[in-house]
Parts: sequence; C-alpha cells; structure tokens
Amino acid sequence: MTAPAYRRILLKLSGEALMGTGSHGIDPDVLERLAGDVRDLIASGVQVALVIGGGNIFRGAGLAERGMDRVTGDQIGMLATVMNALAMQDVLERMSVPARVMSAIKINQVCEDYIRRRAVRHLEKGRAVIFAAGTGNPFFTTDSAASLRAIEIGAELLIKATKVDGIYSADPVKEPSATFYPRLSYDQALREGLQVMDATAIVLCRDHAMPLRVMNINEPDALPRLMRGEDIGSLVVS
Ligand code: UDP
Repeated sequence: MTAPAYRRILLKLSGEALMGTGSHGIDPDVLERLAGDVRDLIASGVQVALVIGGGNIFRGAGLAERGMDRVTGDQIGMLATVMNALAMQDVLERMSVPARVMSAIKINQVCEDYIRRRAVRHLEKGRAVIFAAGTGNPFFTTDSAASLRAIEIGAELLIKATKVDGIYSADPVKEPSATFYPRLSYDQALREGLQVMDATAIVLCRDHAMPLRVMNINEPDALPRLMRGEDIGSLVVS
C-alpha cells in the first residue's frame, strides 16, 4: 500500500452534514457513514482531527434574530457543537476507533479541555481528535475554529466537506450555469465574494499558507481518493 498523500489533516464537517435529509438533529446512519470514513483514513495512516459545526441544532445568529442576546446565542451554538462532537466520539469508539473530544470552553466532566500539545499527542497515537465549542468565543464560526486549529496542530490540509462538489461562482443548486473553480487563491475568493468560508477563516488560512480543499462529502470514496493524491473538489491556496 502506498503512503497517503497527507500525514495530518483537519476535516471540517458542518452540523448540517450530520442531519442527512432531515431538518435538524443527527441522522445516525449519516453519522456512522462519516465515522466510517474517518476510521478508514486513520487505518491508512492519516492523522485525523475534526471540527464539527452546530448548525443542525442551534446557530447564535438565528437565535439573536428572534430576540436573544447574541453572546448567549453563540454560547448555545458552541454547546451545540459539543453535542455533535460527543455523538461522533461515541460512534467512532463503537467502531473501535479511539477518539477524544477537546472543548474550547471548559466542560471537563464531559470531555477534555483543548490543550494543543495534548491534541497533537492524541493524533500521533492514532486517535481521532474532535475539536468542540469552536474557538470558545462568540462572533466566530466553526469555519474559523477549523482554520485556527488546522494551523495550530500543523495540519497539511484543511478539508471542508460540503453538499456540493467544490467552489462555484454562484450556488450551483440555484444556478446550474455557475462556473466551477478547480483551483483558486484566497485573495480571489475574497475579491469575488465566493462562498468558501467566512472572511475571518479565509484570511487566517491565507496568512498562514494553510491549503484548503472544498469537496462533496456525499461523493463515494472522495476522501480516500484525495488521500491517494487525486485532485478532488476545489483547492484554495495562498
Ligand atoms: N460559534 C461561536 N464561536 C465559535 C464557533 C461557533 O460562537 O468559535 C457558535 C455560533 O453561534 C455558530 C454556532 O456556534 O452559529 C454553530 O457553529 P457554525 O454556525 O459554524 O456551525 P455549522 O454552520 O458549521 O454547522
């Protein structure tokens, strides 16, 4: 077996990726399929860190629109990401994949606190590390958390799993004639206002030369093919 193209990656899954065809919450079959992908990556020798969003449960901005204090709403959103992370840890461990949830806010009766050196040690031991509670700060997103953690742990690639095949000039679901970008720069993404990640996350990746792959999580074998060095989805570089 050839060595994987990447030694350490960070996979960002949106909360919505966990809900399958439902309107909220977690679809156990989808969670199991995603966990199976993580298991296979680790078995092939890749160190896998995950950031999971919380949009399938709560988003701070949505709660604030209905009158809630924004900071409280974001705290609720961050706690939602912890629930998703615990669900992923559970299904991974049922598959005999050792996994650790590390939270950016202290809830250490439920999971570990985020400590960078400890996270790296877990990865070196072949454990899946799931970073929960985003950055720990309101007004940020889990995309920013994924960019930050990927840079901190020295990941070679940040992968953003989405429901479409990569980056387009417009939403390809609404505009079938939208142009697909196989490769672009962070500056181009910012200039053209492309739906890649929020600007904070993009600038962090740009300034620290963290490459980003945006790909379709529902495409069969996309992750193993990517690890074999195939050009899947869209690549964004500094
Ligand atoms: N959040 C936050 N700080 C962070 C990350 C997330 O306050 O560093 C909150 C924010 O309210 C956000 C929610 O957690 O709406 C869920 O995260 P996100 O919207 O990024 O989830 P996704 O869209 O990826 O499911």
